[in-house]
Amino acid sequence: MARYIGPVCRQCRREGMKLFLKGERCHTDKCAVEKRNFAPGQHGPTARKPKIVGYGLQLREKQKARRYYQILEGQFRNLFEKASGMKGITGDNMLNMLERRLDNTIYRMGIGTSRAQSRQLVRHGHIKVNGHRVDISSFLVKPNDEIEVAEGSKKNPTILHALEATAHTPSPAWLEVDRENLKGRVIAQAKREDLVQIQLNEQLIVELYSK
Ligand code: SF4
Repeated sequence: MARYIGPVCRQCRREGMKLFLKGERCHTDKCAVEKRNFAPGQHGPTARKPKIVGYGLQLREKQKARRYYQILEGQFRNLFEKASGMKGITGDNMLNMLERRLDNTIYRMGIGTSRAQSRQLVRHGHIKVNGHRVDISSFLVKPNDEIEVAEGSKKNPTILHALEATAHTPSPAWLEVDRENLKGRVIAQAKREDLVQIQLNEQLIVELYSK
């Protein structure tokens, strides 16, 4: 499946909820979900909301998670396969792995205002993990890993702006963030309640992929 390059707010409107894909704009009244909370498309404003059950519900839940974390279908399925091979509850494992992706970790640290921006920072080599530059956004951090902005990027205007914009956003319990020095450390495994800002029923995704 190709990378989605259309309007991102459309994805939120399709799911009927904020997926926080556009950074600062998501917290203003310019948010498309605030202004036009109906499905996108010609018939969106007048169409009756369909009652979704069974497979449809499972599919919507998977799409919601995939769009929230901005991951392609193939990557998402691979991640599910890995999660299902691990000990414990597959749904929890899957969310835990999604959350520990380096692009998401950077977003959670407030170094990027959105996952897309955080991914770009990683891809452009601005981020180090345990002293080594890592430019793979799907890299999974683990407890005790140190994540920091590379020395030469500490004055990057995008990063400085993001830190300012996210100054009041709390960090998740599994991350210790030192905003002054632009670094952080993974202090624990992410628990289910720390994982997603949106309502998500991961069990439906497990059921979808287990067919
Ligand atoms: Fe657009 Fe963000 Fe609102 Fe989603 S939450 S509709 S991405 S502004």
